[in-house]
Amino acid sequence: MGLFGLGVKLKDLQDLYVEQLRDLYSAETQLLEALPKMGAAATAAELKQGFSNHLEETRIQVQRLDAIFQDLGEQPGGHTCKAMQGLVAEGSDMIKEKANPAVKDAGLIAAAQRIEHYEIAGYGTVATYAKVLGHQQHLELLRQTESEEKATDSKLTAFAQEINLEAAQA
Ligand code: FE
Ligand code: FE
Ligand code: FE
Repeated sequence: MGLFGLGVKLKDLQDLYVEQLRDLYSAETQLLEALPKMGAAATAAELKQGFSNHLEETRIQVQRLDAIFQDLGEQPGGHTCKAMQGLVAEGSDMIKEKANPAVKDAGLIAAAQRIEHYEIAGYGTVATYAKVLGHQQHLELLRQTESEEKATDSKLTAFAQEINLEAAQA
């Protein structure tokens, strides 16, 4: 909209798409640092492995976003995801808690699932924008990542069913 162009940062859905992608880029890069710490704090081998597997997926998710930014001719930086800062801070609080190992594992799962849900919401949003804007290749990449986040969330739910029982009996 030419009339509203001057001084308006987000003038159309394409601008909002890039902004939302930058938010996800910030979120994912924060997780590259947070996931190893959560894995180190976990006790159950299966949970440790889960964090480690998702760290590897996260590296690839960052590469997918890099490819999208490259295609758009845009830079990924310059925006901080404040929500992920908060979610990671809650995870750090749980890491520092003095807790029975099973209880701490249950708490780490609680923090991790909040993180996955935030990512699922973010990727769902940018995927629908990519579709409307006709970025078919982006859509495929974003849906791939979204399904990894959903699969991670499901694995955490399944693992919580065991660990919560242990934590209840601790
Ligand atoms: Fe992710
Ligand atoms: Fe955010
Ligand atoms: Fe994730």
